[in-house]
Amino acid sequence: RGKLEGGSRYTFYSPEMNTWSRDRLNLEAALRKGLGNDEFELFYQPQIDIRSGRLAGLESLIRWHRPGSGLVRPDLFIAAAEESGLITNIGEWVLNAATHQAARWSADGLVPVPIAVNVSVRQCTDMSVVDTIRHALRDSGMDPRQLKIEVTESTAMHDPERVAELLHRIHALGVGVAVDDFGTGYSSLSLLKRFPISELKIDKSFVIDLAEDNDDAAIVRGTIALAHSLGMRVVAEGVETELQLRFLARHGCNVAQGFLFAQPLPTAEIRHWLKMPPPHAQRAIEGLQHAR
Ligand code: C2E
Ligand code: MG
Ligand code: MG
Ligand code: MG
Repeated sequence: RGKLEGGSRYTFYSPEMNTWSRDRLNLEAALRKGLGNDEFELFYQPQIDIRSGRLAGLESLIRWHRPGSGLVRPDLFIAAAEESGLITNIGEWVLNAATHQAARWSADGLVPVPIAVNVSVRQCTDMSVVDTIRHALRDSGMDPRQLKIEVTESTAMHDPERVAELLHRIHALGVGVAVDDFGTGYSSLSLLKRFPISELKIDKSFVIDLAEDNDDAAIVRGTIALAHSLGMRVVAEGVETELQLRFLARHGCNVAQGFLFAQPLPTAEIRHWLKMPPPHAQRAIEGLQHAR
């Protein structure tokens, strides 16, 4: 940048900005191409019922096999997909992939548990996602009661009236609704009560420091109590240690999800995991049974 620096209206044309927008345009073009070329894949992460030690559900998490970049995680492309509007197409792909996978598992007699699908804020700006869900269910033959939609707390509060209407329509299909990343947004609890929510997911940022941080421990305990008093189940995400798991068990958390049990896995590996969980997961699950 030269003499014009600080000359306000030229600031938008800084070289940094050009690089940024070029990168962003490249990313959007690559995403669009990726949809056409079938470069996306859903991984699944097990959720464990803390009381029984049994599988309680699987959360689907998108991955992108971007040519030349290996496996790309959603944090690197969901925002761009949202801003470009491509999230509508990606979201449709996700719903179709998850429901068809669920139907396949169910036909194989595997995984008789809910499959959770993440839906982001832009997907909630119009009601068409409800049709997308309905079509995906019909097309795959998946039992609606096996499907769960996850919206983040900040999505829910972005436009509460509209999201409440949307969630009621989703609920009317027989599909469950979970609030994701709970504790990171600013919920109005009275609004939350009006949503047809069956589950709160405690954000992993509170779970990570559970054993060392008294405030986080208090937030987690409080969230569990709040959810239970509103008749909701509680899922803790980001559970990595036995210590965290024991704390959650002691305070009545219903479900745990995290690297302690499994990373998000491709479908072939989920099959193996279900048949024979690796030793560290097995130990954690057995530990649960003794903790009761
Ligand atoms: P999320 O829905 O809150 O998913 C949980 C994230 O935590 C996942 O990251 C998961 O891999 C990670 N995680 C799970 N257990 C642990 C643990 O023990 N420790 C740590 N440190 N992390 C753990 P991931 O897969 O990278 O996804 C990031 C976010 O991207 C998701 O957060 C979700 O908001 C979004 N996302 C993922 N898949 C989709 C999708 O299909 N559609 C949309 N719209 N968003 C998606
Ligand atoms: Mg989620
Ligand atoms: Mg989350
Ligand atoms: Mg998150």
